[in-house]
Parts: sequence; structure tokens; C-alpha cells
Amino acid sequence: MPVCPDCKRDVPANQVVCQSCGAALDPRPHIDGDPVVVLHATSQEEATSAQAALEAEGIPAYVAPPGVGVFADESDIEVVVSADLADDAVAILNAPPLSDEEFAAAAAQSGSDE
Ligand SMILES: [Zn+2]
Repeated sequence: MPVCPDCKRDVPANQVVCQSCGAALDPRPHIDGDPVVVLHATSQEEATSAQAALEAEGIPAYVAPPGVGVFADESDIEVVVSADLADDAVAILNAPPLSDEEFAAAAAQSGSDE
């Protein structure tokens, strides 16, 4: 578990601010390689759901709030992954939502396709 550089308390992974003392933390605890922004979200909900979608596919991602991200943009929320996984991440984020039929087919296929 990461440790706050300021107060030395344990902090949960993926936190960008220490919940004990408010110190800024390195928001890249488990990204290997160069961080790449794959989504500029306009809301925390959008960023969080994108992060969840990526992590469901096995791609570690973190959400950097305004002013904290790679480019420290004050106006948007960045979803960031390793450069190695950026292409996959963009493909996942750009994939259209599955219809019920497609979802069932995919689930059936993944079940029998060992
Ligand atoms: Zn702290």
C-alpha cells in the first residue's frame, strides 16, 4: 500500500490526495511505463466508469482530477493508462455498447472458448 510522503500514513491505491493530511500524492501507483491520457472526461462519473471499463479488461487505469493529471489541465478529468496499453484502452473506450444479444453471445463464447 502506498504511503503518504508527508504524514507517512498508509493511503489507498489510486488516491491523488492524502485523506489524512491533504498532501498531493503520486497518482500513478500502478502504471508501468509512460502514462498516456486516453480520455478527457467532463465529469467524475464519466471518468470513473471509463476507469472501471478499462480495469474490467485488465488494463490498469487511474483518474486524475483537474490540475493533477499528466498535463495538469485545470478544466478536465484525465483517465490515464500505460503507453503500452493505450491502443487497447482507446479501443475499449470507443467500442459501442453491446446490445443484449451481443452481450449474451459474447458471454456464451467466452464460456466455451477455453
Ligand atoms: Zn498525509
